[in-house]
Amino acid sequence: MNILLTGGAGYIGSHTCVMLLEQGHDVVVVDNLCNSKVESLKRVEKITGKKIIFYQQDLSNAAGVDEIFKHQLIDAVIHFAGLKSVAESVDQPLRYYQNNIDGTLALCDAMLANGVKNLVFSSSATVYGNPETMPINENAPVGPFNPYGRSKLFIEEILTDLYASDKSWNIALLRYFNPVGAHPGGLIGEDPSDLPNNLMPYVSQVAVGKLSELKVFGDDYETPDGTGVRDYIHVMDLAEGHLKALEKLQAGPGLVTYNLGTGRGCSVLEMVAAFEKASGRQIPYQIVGRRQGDIPTCYADPSFAEKELGWTASRGIDEMCADAWRWQHMNPKGYL
Ligand code: NAD
Ligand code: UDP
Repeated sequence: MNILLTGGAGYIGSHTCVMLLEQGHDVVVVDNLCNSKVESLKRVEKITGKKIIFYQQDLSNAAGVDEIFKHQLIDAVIHFAGLKSVAESVDQPLRYYQNNIDGTLALCDAMLANGVKNLVFSSSATVYGNPETMPINENAPVGPFNPYGRSKLFIEEILTDLYASDKSWNIALLRYFNPVGAHPGGLIGEDPSDLPNNLMPYVSQVAVGKLSELKVFGDDYETPDGTGVRDYIHVMDLAEGHLKALEKLQAGPGLVTYNLGTGRGCSVLEMVAAFEKASGRQIPYQIVGRRQGDIPTCYADPSFAEKELGWTASRGIDEMCADAWRWQHMNPKGYL
C-alpha cells in the first residue's frame, strides 16, 4: 500500500515508518518539523534501505495538503501530527485546539476531495480522564480534563460525525497508553526538544548525565509502592498495532476504536529499577509532591485489539528500557 503519515518524522511516526517500509509498503510523510528533525527520516532510510517521500509542510495549509494527494498515490493515511504536551496545552489551549483540530479538518477535506477514505488516528488513553475501574476497556466513559486530551476527544467526535455522514469511510481510532522504548538498532528514538515531560525520556537523560536527578511526583497514591502506575508500551509494539489497524481497514470495518496497551501496570519506582538494570547506571531520584492533573493508575484492557486485530504487545519493561537506553547512549544529544 501507499501510506501517507502525517507527523511521520516524530517519535511514533518514525518507528511506524520503519515497520511499514520493512513490510513492503511505500511511505509519504508530511510534517512541519515543529517537534522533530528530518534526520529521523534519514535514519529510517538508513535502517530500511528504502526511500521516503517527504513534504515539510503544516497540515493546516489546506491547499498544500491537497497538492500532496494530487501528486501522490495514497491508499490510506496514518494521522500522527499533533502537539502533545499536557502542560503546554493548559498554558496555550488555543494553540493546541488550532493545531490539532485545524490540521485534522484540512487533512479530512483533502482526503474527501481525493477519494481517500482510510484513516488511522493517533488518539490517547488521556480521553478516559480518571477512570473509575481498571483495566480500561473501550466502552469506559470518556472525560479528559486538559486541553490536549479534549483536542483528542473532539477529533474522535469529528471523525465519528464524518463516518456517520458517509459510511464508505474506514477509520480506526487508536487510543495509545504510554509509548516508550526505541528501535533496537539505536538509530531512532524519542528526542524531546525541551525538558522532557514524560517519565522515560526524563529517566534516560538522568542516566546519560544530561539531567542530575529524577523528581518522582508523589509516593502517597493508593498503589503498591505509592507511586503512579501506567501501562508502558514499547513503541515497536505500537508501530505493529498500526500495521494491524491498516490491515483491518482493508476489510471495511467502518469506524472502530482500539486501546493499544499491554494490560500491565508499572509504577514509577519499578520503571526506575528496570532502567538501572538495563543501563548499569544509578538513577538518583527525589520524592516530591504530586503533579497536578495526574491520576494514580492507568492501564488498558487490550483484549478487544487482540480479538479484532490479532495484535498483542510482546515486549516487556526490560526490553523497553534496554532499547531506550541504547538510543540515549548512542545519541546523548538526540538527532542534533
Ligand atoms: P511527536 O511530537 O514526536 O510527533 C508528532 C509530529 O507531528 C512531529 O514530528 C511534529 O513536528 C508534527 N506536527 C505537529 N503539528 C503539526 C502540523 N500542524 N503539521 C504538520 N506536522 C505537525 O509525537 P509522538 O509521540 O510521535 O506522537 C504522535 C501522535 O500520537 C500525536 O498525535 C500524539 O498526540 C499521539 N500520542 C502520543 C503519545 C505519547 O506519549 N508519545 C501518547 C498518546 C498519543
Ligand atoms: N513522573 C514522575 N516524574 C517525571 C515524569 C513523570 O514521577 O519527571 C510520573 C508521573 O507522575 C506518572 C508517571 O511518571 O505517574 C508517568 O508520567 P508520564 O508523564 O510519562 O505519562 P502520563 O502521566 O501522561 O501517563
